[in-house]
Amino acid sequence: MTTDSYGTLYIVATPIGNLKDITFRAVETLSSVSMIAAEDTRHSKKLFQHYNISTPSISFFEHNRTARIPQIVANLKKGNHVALISDAGTPGISDPAYKLIREAIAEDITVESIPGPTALISGIVSSGLPTDRILFEGFLPPKKGRIKRLTNLIDQDATIVFYESPYRLIKTLKEILEILGDRPAVITRELTKMNEEIIRGTVLDLLTYFTSNKPRGEFVIIIGKNDANVFFK
Ligand code: SAM
Repeated sequence: MTTDSYGTLYIVATPIGNLKDITFRAVETLSSVSMIAAEDTRHSKKLFQHYNISTPSISFFEHNRTARIPQIVANLKKGNHVALISDAGTPGISDPAYKLIREAIAEDITVESIPGPTALISGIVSSGLPTDRILFEGFLPPKKGRIKRLTNLIDQDATIVFYESPYRLIKTLKEILEILGDRPAVITRELTKMNEEIIRGTVLDLLTYFTSNKPRGEFVIIIGKNDANVFFK
């Protein structure tokens, strides 16, 4: 049960690159709430300027969330509506938004999603790999636990999606090759941006490509099943 006198926490999806990828409802919501909690207020300024959004914003990120969550919840309990955005895409997908959403639910605050872009979905649909079963792995841990996570995936009958940074891309591809084998694989890079690129082949093809083309930008790695029908010609 939610409490009527409280404000609503809107989870608002914003572009993953191209500023035009935002819904009318998202712009309307960002313009009308009392406050926007943004992962990086400087980063989101560009979006606000583009759509003439003058709503006050505060930062909400991994390292200030313990202090920020009670402030945002107190604001919602006063009856103010708050919009939550991340640097790119849908808040709650591989970012700290989840913790605030959980806390709002625990406090009987209404949570509403304003859907829009997310790199995971744009990546998988343009990959050409099967979409009937998708396993979203997000980021592998930076150090410990990587091999265990990958080993757990060996027998999964699904297309697997990872997020990765340019600094760890080669390491991750090498480990995927070693543990999951030379499966069909796709990398979507800089989706919706000027330098968008989609590379299709096998894990070894991608590794060869990025060994001679330095990884730059943002990446979604998509790994297909080890099935003859799934390989690209
Ligand atoms: N909340 C975001 C979403 O809905 O996709 C994801 C946030 S996560 C912190 C950032 C990661 O998402 C990047 O490291 C990259 O793996 C992926 N990503 C975000 N934007 C992207 C883009 N334009 N092209 C490719 N991958 C992207």
